[in-house]
Amino acid sequence: MSNIPPEPNATAEVLSDIELQAICSHPPLPKIPAGHPHTQPIHLSVVWECESPQQADSMLGRPGTGFVYRRDGHPNASSLADQLGSLHRAEKTLLTAQGMSALGLAFLGHLNPGDHVVLSRQLYGKTLQLAGHELQRWGITAEQVDVQNHGEIAAACAHPKFKMLVAETIANPCLEVAHIASLAEVAHRHRGVLLIDNTFATPMLCRPLEHGADLVMESLSKFVCGHGDVMLGLICGKASAWSNIQSLCSMLGMASSPLDCWLTQRGLATLPLRIEQACRNALHLANFLVEHPAIDTVFYPGLTAHPQHQLATQLLTGRYGHVLSFRLKGKGPAVTRLMSSMKDTIPFCPSLGENQTTFSHPASTSHRGLSAIEKEKLGIDESLLRLSCGIEPTEWLLQSFIQALKYVFQ
Ligand SMILES: *Cc1c(COP(=O)(O)O)cnc(C)c1O
Repeated sequence: MSNIPPEPNATAEVLSDIELQAICSHPPLPKIPAGHPHTQPIHLSVVWECESPQQADSMLGRPGTGFVYRRDGHPNASSLADQLGSLHRAEKTLLTAQGMSALGLAFLGHLNPGDHVVLSRQLYGKTLQLAGHELQRWGITAEQVDVQNHGEIAAACAHPKFKMLVAETIANPCLEVAHIASLAEVAHRHRGVLLIDNTFATPMLCRPLEHGADLVMESLSKFVCGHGDVMLGLICGKASAWSNIQSLCSMLGMASSPLDCWLTQRGLATLPLRIEQACRNALHLANFLVEHPAIDTVFYPGLTAHPQHQLATQLLTGRYGHVLSFRLKGKGPAVTRLMSSMKDTIPFCPSLGENQTTFSHPASTSHRGLSAIEKEKLGIDESLLRLSCGIEPTEWLLQSFIQALKYVFQ
């Protein structure tokens, strides 16, 4: 027995099981005043402690006065919403779980059974599915128009139950640029609102509220975050067009996640630098591809031959976006060869807005659900490739294309 060492705490009082468990389940919040941390903390807490029933009652009754339950607001969302709302000069701003939640809220907040919504034919595929098909089950009718055909748009908005016009600043995949001010004018003339999806432009290139839009949404999952590891949406706009979007977001469970807000805020800090490089890459590539014998057509608003080049120059303040598309000669087999020969430099990822340049193939991915006639109307065929430019050195991107096109067409 004598060779067993004495326990170090033999004289201290022994903690009971209850005390052990109480310590584990009550992590103390910092007691030393922490001052102001220099970087943003991530607030994962689902609920906040309330001082008193009176205080809880007053905060719950007046959204924006404090945090109670994460679904109704949290510090990471507030901080990012402040920045994005300032960029867009919005009276109301809300972050949502994804871009699609922001669109869903705009529709559900505004439209009632019997209402008519006018949609640009060039909208994101899921937006068309939601507004053009799903909403019919709630008795909402929808009509598609060519976003460049102002006569067609005016006729559609003259519908007696017209309520909302929806378009994208820069549309996918052929990069048509919308004349937001005229769209706003026609929507308002017929007592409706204009909702603009500004995902491709980001607030760096365009702030649609300045041009008369009532509501703006963006998928922050794309270039604003930029790192391909977040899903987050933004909806912002005029107070007069806000309706009950905020409370619907809570009721439908579409609230943002603190981690996604935090990562997007980190991305936002470098957005001005990243967008410059990505737009420069897209412009250089477009100018290179348009001269290349293996390329049939290039779609990019920065090219002087683009039908909305002048409009784009004014609206997008001299930059033309990070996305371009082009038709390759040699059709399907050439497309497959080009993409497979470039897979180590430019991967085929059917999304956009990453720091790394990526390919998409609309006919087999984003637009695969469309009929042949619908695809033709949008200019989509198997030879069309879409490129989302990242921030790599321009010369590296150009060389990658020079090599790959030489290999495919040797
Ligand atoms: C990706 C995208 C959306 C949808 O956003 P998610 O964040 O993926 O839900 C909407 N509109 C456009 C133009 C998009 O590119």
